[in-house]
Amino acid sequence: MFDLNTEKYDFRYETDEKQLERVGEILRNGGLVAIPTETVYGLAANAFDGEAVKKIFAAKGRPQDNPLIVHINALSQWNELVSDIPENARRLAEAYWPGPLTVILKKSDAIPDEVSAGLDTVAVRMPSHKTAAEIIGAAGVPLAAPSANISGKPSPTTFAHTVNDMDGKIDAIVDGGECDVGVESTVVSLAGDVPVLLRPGGITPEQLTDVLGELEINDAVYNKLAEGTAAASPGMKYMHYSPDAQVIILRGSIEGFCRYINENRCDGDEALCFDGEEKIINMPCLCYGKREDLLTQAHKLFDALREFDRRGTKRVFVRCPDSSGVGLAVFNRLIRAAAFNLIDV
Ligand code: AMP
Ligand code: MG
Repeated sequence: MFDLNTEKYDFRYETDEKQLERVGEILRNGGLVAIPTETVYGLAANAFDGEAVKKIFAAKGRPQDNPLIVHINALSQWNELVSDIPENARRLAEAYWPGPLTVILKKSDAIPDEVSAGLDTVAVRMPSHKTAAEIIGAAGVPLAAPSANISGKPSPTTFAHTVNDMDGKIDAIVDGGECDVGVESTVVSLAGDVPVLLRPGGITPEQLTDVLGELEINDAVYNKLAEGTAAASPGMKYMHYSPDAQVIILRGSIEGFCRYINENRCDGDEALCFDGEEKIINMPCLCYGKREDLLTQAHKLFDALREFDRRGTKRVFVRCPDSSGVGLAVFNRLIRAAAFNLIDV
């Protein structure tokens, strides 16, 4: 409908009324807008408009069987999207919405098949990013939005990443600066008998257990899906978050890491390490936060993976993060970026 024009649509951190009105109009008319959220940038369309949602899959090159998350800005919007909201879902929302948590429930008839990818469930999230909430308000409808990257690539956490992947393919991109969390939302399914964590994110398993009492962690959070196994979350089937460089995770001490590097390094290899370790690792490095600072690691991860591509790095050796708390989300993304190539050193 409208050509992307980053000068015209370079909405800096404060979006004004007129800009919001314009974005709302694009979305209501079936267009696509990339929007900032506190997790990663999302590629949004009217969740009730199946034709508009189809364009998201085309722009990203996303497999048709991978469903989308629907974004709302008020609890009242949730009722229309799902068949029933059980008590534990309400308690989760009360505890962690708005925020980086997606809740899966049985869907209502209002959800087009394009959004749910033919499943009988729908994933819903209320983002805490001010601009995201304002854009949902301006559109006047819930917004279906996956991450605004080309399918398989690291999710975009800055305006520049989003322009890099979506320029010329969509109607507008809204600049909201850097995403705070930096990894996609935690996804929990309450559609079955027991709550199941399908994807770790900014809300930790401990935070979920605090509210739910019980929580099963789906195998695919840690492990590669066995050949022929049906994925509980279709997104788990696909290779994900991968830069062009080959990613190899080395788990163990910094001494073990350095020993491995010294024995195995080739031209074009680089390291992703914790702050300060670049002084002792004998190769070009990017740092992604202090060893114990899991929030910073989440915040910096995707930008670092993209930076290796800008540099033309061939192989990236990664210091394995601690997988407790938010670290589980970092580990989960890295192990997929590495196609499960993890070596104990
Ligand atoms: P993205 O939109 O890129 O953040 O990916 C959304 C993730 O949520 C994907 O892994 C989807 O497979 C998953 N998801 C969305 N809706 C559902 C659903 N109804 N059931 C299971 N997983 C879902
Ligand atoms: Mg994604």
